[in-house]
Amino acid sequence: MDSHGECYWHVKQNIKHRFKSAALTKLYKKAAIAYRIEEFNKHFDHICKIYPRVVKYLENDVKFKKLSRAHFGGNWFEVMTSNIVETVNNLMRKAREYPIIAMIDFIISTMGQWFLTRRREAYDVTTPLTPKREETLRKIWDEVGSLITLQLNENEYNVMCREFDAIVNLRSKSCTCKNFDIEKLPCVHAIAAAGKSQPQNTGELIYSMCSKFYASEYWLLAYAETIYHVPPNSQWTNIPEDVTAIQVIGTT
Ligand SMILES: [Zn+2]
Repeated sequence: MDSHGECYWHVKQNIKHRFKSAALTKLYKKAAIAYRIEEFNKHFDHICKIYPRVVKYLENDVKFKKLSRAHFGGNWFEVMTSNIVETVNNLMRKAREYPIIAMIDFIISTMGQWFLTRRREAYDVTTPLTPKREETLRKIWDEVGSLITLQLNENEYNVMCREFDAIVNLRSKSCTCKNFDIEKLPCVHAIAAAGKSQPQNTGELIYSMCSKFYASEYWLLAYAETIYHVPPNSQWTNIPEDVTAIQVIGTT
């Protein structure tokens, strides 16, 4: 599915500056990060009632309904901001003034260093998931204690807590809280269900329910390639014909 997202943080800043209401910004945040559509609707209705002048902006200008976590159709994982673009943008602040070749050299050498640092970091990890995701899972694991879990059938479990009664399907990796479905990392209910399903082998089952994109192995693979500098053109050999055929027309 083709999905187009919007940076949650940027929209929040726009709302802050345009409408100057801390209470509205809080409500926007609650609606934007809600996992379930009912939860989103509750906060959005609240916005409509208290701040009717904001609704047009949210519905028409930022297509908020479509872009909120609960409505977004694609794989959002836990990323709701364009931080990575901002990082590169920040890096380029000075370099964008450079002549084109110098700018490309700068990008190549910076990316090369970033890859080297991250490759080293990823190489030292011995856990199945990246350190941040391991920590997330540990925190969720600590919350499981107070939950009451009931097996319903071969795959489904009813997990009860004070605020929410969830139905977890371990086979389809899904939970009615929607957290598991959207982030592709087991929610507290799914971890409770995993404990009930395989008390002897819970850890392995939990890891099998995590998206491979959180695996330390995938992290390492992302930085596996080395980025080489482009040598002076006197050292260029074996240039493919389709490349030599290209005529670059410069402007002076
Ligand atoms: Zn859940």
